[in-house]
Amino acid sequence: MVRIEHIGIAVKDLSAAEEIYARLLGGPSYKREAVDSEGVVTSFFQAGPNKIELLESTRPDGPIAKAIEKRGEGIHHIAFEVEDIEKEMARLKAEGFTLLNEEPKRGADNKWVCFIHPKSANGVLVELCQEIR
Ligand code: ZN
Repeated sequence: MVRIEHIGIAVKDLSAAEEIYARLLGGPSYKREAVDSEGVVTSFFQAGPNKIELLESTRPDGPIAKAIEKRGEGIHHIAFEVEDIEKEMARLKAEGFTLLNEEPKRGADNKWVCFIHPKSANGVLVELCQEIR
């Protein structure tokens, strides 16, 4: 793992949350992007070398809608940047972690991503992400 790339935060109202995070971080979101396969719209902020990703569900049965229903708004996942996602996926699988996708999938912000089940990481949903080159 190279570093924490971003922290994902589940929100009910993306526009309202963007206003709050723009004030909190001292600058506006630099991009909004929909990920249709996940049923989310994302909004990214830069915070020094790190990023904050706000996520709003676009459908009532999507993973973000479900997370908010269960636990309310708040931190949804921590994303680690990796050099070689397939290698990291194989390593983590061999270490006994449960991967939520067997193949890297296309995520927001030009990344290949893979999620690790929170049950295998003390309740934290972990995302691996690798820049699509
Ligand atoms: Zn993310």
